[in-house]
Amino acid sequence: MKNIVILGSTGSIGRSALEVIARFPERFRVVGLTAGRNVPLLLEQIRRFTPEVAAVADEVSLRAVQEALGSGKGPELRCGVEGISSAAAAEHAHVVISAIVGAAGLMPTLAAIRAGKTIALANKETLVMAGPIALAEAQRCGALLFPTDSEHSAIFQCLRGYRKEEIKRILLTASGGPFIGKTAKELETVSAEDALRHPNWSMGRKITIDSATLMNKGLEVIEARYLFDLPPAMIEVLIHPQSIIHSMVEFTDNSCIAQLSKPDMKGPIAYALSYPERLDAVLEPLAWETLAGLTFMRPDTAAFPCLALAYDALHAGGTMPAVLNAANEAAVAAFLEGAVGFNKIPAIIRKIMDGHTVQPADDLAVVLDADRRAREEARKLIARG
Ligand code: NAD
Ligand code: MG
Repeated sequence: MKNIVILGSTGSIGRSALEVIARFPERFRVVGLTAGRNVPLLLEQIRRFTPEVAAVADEVSLRAVQEALGSGKGPELRCGVEGISSAAAAEHAHVVISAIVGAAGLMPTLAAIRAGKTIALANKETLVMAGPIALAEAQRCGALLFPTDSEHSAIFQCLRGYRKEEIKRILLTASGGPFIGKTAKELETVSAEDALRHPNWSMGRKITIDSATLMNKGLEVIEARYLFDLPPAMIEVLIHPQSIIHSMVEFTDNSCIAQLSKPDMKGPIAYALSYPERLDAVLEPLAWETLAGLTFMRPDTAAFPCLALAYDALHAGGTMPAVLNAANEAAVAAFLEGAVGFNKIPAIIRKIMDGHTVQPADDLAVVLDADRRAREEARKLIARG
C-alpha cells in the first residue's frame, strides 16, 4: 500500500490523481490533501478519501472547512504555506503529488524534498525557479523527483534501459495550443476566452494560457534540463498538433524512441505512482487506424517569443529563470483579467528580464527575492499600461 499526499488536490492534476487512486484502492491510500481556496470540492474529497491531514491556503478557508466538518472525527486541519508544507512532509506519506500551480508550489515541494519523499512532480515551476537547489536538496535528503509532466514522463519512459552517452537529443512535443498558425498581428486581438479553449488538453487556467503562448514549453525545456541533466542544446521543441506523441529521444545512431498515448494526464500520474510497474488500462487504447495524420513542425518563435525567452533565461542562468517565471505569472494573471493583450505577455517578460542583474541561484532567499521583485516590477509595468 502506498500512502499519498496530493498538493493541489482540487486542481486539474489533483482531480485526475484522485481518479487514478480511486480505481486502485488496494494499492493507494490518500493520507493528505491540500488545496488553495476551493473549500466545497476539498470537503467532498475529504469525505470520500478520509485523509489524516488536510490543509488550505488561508485562515478563511480553514474556518470554512472546520465549520463544515464539525468537531467529529476528521483530518487534522492546517493552513498557510507552513500548514501545506507540513502536510507535504507528513510522516506516513510515501509519495507526494506536487500539483499546486505556479510559484506557490515551491515551498511545499521543497518541504516534501527535505522530508525525503518520492515526489510526483507536476509543478514545473519548482525546477524553473530553483532547479539547482531542489536537486541538491533531493540528493542530500534522499528524495526522488519523478517526472510527471506528460513530456517528461514520456522522455523518462523512452530512456528506460539506455545510458546517457547514447542520447543525441530529446524532442519535447508541443500541441501548439489554440493559436497555432496565427501571425503576431492576428494574435494582437485574441481574448482570454479564445486562449482558454485548448484543442487537446483540459487543464488549469494558468497552464492553458502558458500553452497558448508556448511559455509552457519553455518552462518544460528548463524542467527537462534539470530532470535529465542535459545541456539546453540537447533539448529541442517540435510542434505536434495531435498530442499523441508526448515526446521522444533521438539516439546517437539517429534512431528514435517515442512515447504515444491519448492525451490524458492519468497516464503520467499513474506511471509516477506505480513505477516500475504499470497499472491496468489507465488510459483508453489508441485507435491506430485513426492515427494516419501525425504531423510536426518547428515552433514559430516570431509569433510566439516566449519559448525563446525561456531558452534565454536558461542560458543566462542563476536567478533569471525565476525572474522569467515570476514575470510570466504576473503577465498571465493580467491577461486573464483583461488588463493586457496577448502579445503583451512576452513583451512584459522581456522587459523584466532585461532589467534584471543575474545572481547565483544557490541560495533560496536570493531566488525568492528575485521572484518577489520581478513580480512587483511586472505589476508596475502593467499598471502603467
Ligand atoms: P489548477 O489551477 O487546475 O490547480 C491548481 C491547484 O493548486 C488547485 O488545487 C488550487 O487550489 C491549488 N492552489 C492554487 N493556488 C494555491 C496557493 N496559493 N496555495 C495553495 N494551493 C494553491 O492547475 P493544474 O492544471 O492542475 O496544474 C497544476 C500544476 O501542474 C502546474 O504547475 C502545471 O504547470 C502542472 N501541470 C499541469 C498539467 C495539466 O494537464 N493540468 C500537465 C502538466 C503539468
Ligand atoms: Mg506538459
